[in-house]
Amino acid sequence: MSLSEIIARMHAAEERAGRARGSTRLIAVSKMQPPGRVEAVLEQGHRLFGENRVQEAAAKWPAWQERYGGVELHLLGPLQTNKARQAFGLFDAIHSLDRPKLAKTLARLAQETGRCPKLFVQVNTGEEPQKAGVIPAEADDFIAECRTLDLPVAGLMCIPPLGEEPAPHFALLAKIAARNGLKELSMGMSADFETAIALGASHVRVGSAIFGARG
Ligand SMILES: *Cc1c(COP(=O)(O)O)cnc(C)c1O
Repeated sequence: MSLSEIIARMHAAEERAGRARGSTRLIAVSKMQPPGRVEAVLEQGHRLFGENRVQEAAAKWPAWQERYGGVELHLLGPLQTNKARQAFGLFDAIHSLDRPKLAKTLARLAQETGRCPKLFVQVNTGEEPQKAGVIPAEADDFIAECRTLDLPVAGLMCIPPLGEEPAPHFALLAKIAARNGLKELSMGMSADFETAIALGASHVRVGSAIFGARG
């Protein structure tokens, strides 16, 4: 599907949900895509991209950021504390804040540098043992802890379990955000971004539907 088709589907979903046109931001997920496909989307004027791994992003994006102005880059995948400093320099937002040790490391870097990427707390809404994220029952306490550290938590992120109906997971994430006074919701991927928009997503993360299957 083309970028413009995805954007048209987003607008239609916003309209059906009674939301303002353009109120959902599209993160084009460029992980593991051939460079030509990413450049084609940059050439079309899109400037918001997501990557899963610090190392891969560090190898690809500085050159593109120089060539195309105004690129905004978000980290979507798990962040090891020993890569936090590098991530700080590279990303405008981190969607995978999910444990106290990482929160403390980010707080220290924020103090040291006087800035901090926008942060999303990842919630493991399906309570899957192999998946990153705080479990729903611990989300309120963890968000409070992040606030004590003065971290700029803007919202929540989730990845529903594969093969499950995503809507209840999106609704749960929205509920946790609302009771914690958080406005932004990073939810919805290629297969379910319209459902996520209906349930209040502020950011959808779409990869294969824009770029094709990953190599
Ligand atoms: C890969 C990935 C996406 C995009 O997935 P698609 O199914 O290709 O749209 C979104 N979010 C995260 C966290 C990812 O790792």
